[in-house]
Amino acid sequence: MEEILSAEVVVIGGGVIGSAVAFYLSREGAEVLLVEAEDIASGASGACDGFLSLQTKSLGPHLHLALESLGLYRELAGELGPDIEFRQEGGLLLATSQDQMKVLKERAKELADHGVEVELLGISELKSMLPEVGKEVKGGSFCALEAQVNPLALVLRLVERAKEMGARVMTGCRVENIVVANDRVREVHTNSGVIRSRRVVCAAGVGSNEIGHMIIVDVPVLPQKGQILVTEPRDQSLKPIVYAAEYLGAKTGLEALTPGDEVAMKLGLGFTCEQTVSGNFLLGSTREFAGFDRNTTPEGMKAIAANAVRYLPFLGDLDVIRSFAGLRPCSPDGLPILGTVKGVKGFFLATGHSGDGVSLAPVTGKVLADLVLDGKAELDIAPFSLYRFK
Ligand SMILES: Cc1cc2nc3c(=O)[nH]c(=O)nc-3n(C[C@H](O)[C@H](O)[C@H](O)COP(=O)(O)OP(=O)(O)OC[C@H]3O[C@@H](n4cnc5c(N)ncnc54)[C@H](O)[C@@H]3O)c2cc1C
Repeated sequence: MEEILSAEVVVIGGGVIGSAVAFYLSREGAEVLLVEAEDIASGASGACDGFLSLQTKSLGPHLHLALESLGLYRELAGELGPDIEFRQEGGLLLATSQDQMKVLKERAKELADHGVEVELLGISELKSMLPEVGKEVKGGSFCALEAQVNPLALVLRLVERAKEMGARVMTGCRVENIVVANDRVREVHTNSGVIRSRRVVCAAGVGSNEIGHMIIVDVPVLPQKGQILVTEPRDQSLKPIVYAAEYLGAKTGLEALTPGDEVAMKLGLGFTCEQTVSGNFLLGSTREFAGFDRNTTPEGMKAIAANAVRYLPFLGDLDVIRSFAGLRPCSPDGLPILGTVKGVKGFFLATGHSGDGVSLAPVTGKVLADLVLDGKAELDIAPFSLYRFK
């Protein structure tokens, strides 16, 4: 007879969100079983950048969440150790026109009103920070609080620590159904058997809608493809994370910043660049709605490379050694979907983080642990409720 497992809490999804939820739940002494259909970090969290940015967040609750998360990252860096490659060297947002500079100036004011200091930089100030900047660049803005992390290493360390604190992890374990009886979650059915549990957290990234349908709830998360190029390593020279105003436009839909040409518009192209601890540069990225296809495309890779040398011409001297694409779990407004579901006790959502899942993982893990174990979170998560879409 098939063995029936049980767990106090089942977490579905071994990406950065599921691993952070499992970590914080385990830290609170919960008995956690994390189930992952493929392998740990095999989804978006293993195919992304590690920007912990603030200048790109929506003003208000989203930015507040990101600030809280950044605070937790400083703690986590101590607990998880140097492997996660957390570095807080600031972030540079580059502008290629005076119109873009105007938008950055307005945003700097708004960010300051929300407690985030951003320094506006003319071209000479910018060059003193980033001498190798391209001719088209007219200036930028710098936020000293912004940071970066190695997302893959982060997920692996979170899972490792959760296991040390007692969590169990099943990979190759796909959730196929969730049984609800008397308005409460009772069982999780997987390809590896049945798990009895009264509490389930859905952190299934782009698989969240499928999970929602198992309890007859629509979770509006769509896959948005992002492509990235990886260059050969070079001596450490780039400390801050660097990105372009057009990236902010592609991400937030701010019209004044959306890319000018048709191909860039179609691909949702926006320049991002970070140098990893091993010296490679990660160059991004695109924002495409192409279903569940995770392949890179010649058109996308060419556009990313051409765009990157506009901003940092030295990149043209480096060979591209690898490329990959990931699927952002995109919600209709780009903000995460956190909280409970009406009529189904014991079911919790931690999904829809769109282009910000790495940045928001620690705070999501902490908030969900509070919610699952105490019935309420310290932070106000009402703005991230599923029901804002109804
Ligand atoms: C190109 C690119 C660049 C990005 N850059 C950044 C950045 O710089 N900063 C930032 O903050 N964010 C960034 N993001 C966004 C970030 O990667 C995502 O928000 C984050 O990884 C989402 O994490 P997740 O755990 O929700 O999803 P995932 O990492 O996709 O994990 C979900 C997991 O659930 C599993 N799963 C699905 N269905 C089932 C099922 N039925 N049963 C069991 N398991 C299941 C999947 O196999 C998967 O492993 C980027 C994304 C991309 C694509």
